[in-house]
Amino acid sequence: MTPLWTRRQVLTQLGIAAAAVHTLDPHELCCAVPAYAQTADKELFELKKVGDGVYAAIAATRYKVNCNAAVIVTNDGVVVVDSHSKPSAARALYAEIQGITKQPVRKVINTHFHWDHWQGNEAYAAASPGLEIIASERTRENLTRPDAGVGGVPYIQKQIDAMPGDIDKLKADIQKASDPKKKAALESNLQQAEAFYQELKQMRPALPTRTVSTTATLQEGGREIQLQVLGRAHTNGDLFIYLPKEKIVATGDALIDWMPFLNDGYPEDWVQTLTALEQLDFNQIIPGHGEVRPKSQLVFFRGYLSDLIAAVKKASADGATLDEMKTKIGDQLAPKYEAGMSKYPLGQYRDRVGLNVEMVYQKVVKKS
Ligand SMILES: [Zn+2]
Ligand SMILES: [Zn+2]
Repeated sequence: MTPLWTRRQVLTQLGIAAAAVHTLDPHELCCAVPAYAQTADKELFELKKVGDGVYAAIAATRYKVNCNAAVIVTNDGVVVVDSHSKPSAARALYAEIQGITKQPVRKVINTHFHWDHWQGNEAYAAASPGLEIIASERTRENLTRPDAGVGGVPYIQKQIDAMPGDIDKLKADIQKASDPKKKAALESNLQQAEAFYQELKQMRPALPTRTVSTTATLQEGGREIQLQVLGRAHTNGDLFIYLPKEKIVATGDALIDWMPFLNDGYPEDWVQTLTALEQLDFNQIIPGHGEVRPKSQLVFFRGYLSDLIAAVKKASADGATLDEMKTKIGDQLAPKYEAGMSKYPLGQYRDRVGLNVEMVYQKVVKKS
């Protein structure tokens, strides 16, 4: 059985309790745009059947974003891919899963280390003694490294430190808001922020109990589940979950239905990794964010990354400044990508293209 450690115990264990804590820049956040939220009583997830016994839990838009989950029912328990930003969200999905099957959740797979994909692990660990939590070796390492990026045990403290400031800002914005609709949305955000703050402080992070470093196959109660390690992409440890018989793949944030987040990513490798993924025989994608998509989404998403890289390289060779690049490339790629990348209130093209340009410039041109 997996011991559930408190966050402090984990930090102490790792000898990094005193790790430097930075003020959180909202742009550092993987997938959150705190300005938007639906009303608090809206369901957190919509379970959509993708294949026989395979479901996509499509996350509703919230103040702090939740990732999608893939739910795979087998003859011997349930496998869940990714666990959202907080235990209460995982518990909400667990309740929905129980409406489908009374089988226990036997395994949770984390696609990568970002906060919105693993912070709910502990809810499944508490509900299912003996739960296995599987991730890539790199993801397991990232979850305990103080400098890994926007996720992991040390990052919980960074979120805790940032919340009072976020809450104060929301209160100030509520005071200033005159439009009743906007005021109501802000009040909902405030309620969610305060609840999230309390949850963060009580987290007992459940880390992976099993890792894979190369592609592996699980035979789960009559179902084949492949864990594909295909190279660096959104992070250095992305895991793709592939069901060959059902022709479904769950991709985490390495392939999503909105703009990519590049800060912890490897832009040029990412294109190659998606090309490796393309070789697999699938026709449905359960992405980390957004709706279930056909395989053509891979071509569209990879096209954006490769066009972005080419545009940044060219503009840089032509002597453009970073600010010029952000504007020029944002406009240049818009006809092809703006509509397809802006289907939801979060992760829209214009919100992210400038930061994407900057990240590609730093990682590909300057190689810093
Ligand atoms: Zn995410
Ligand atoms: Zn991510």
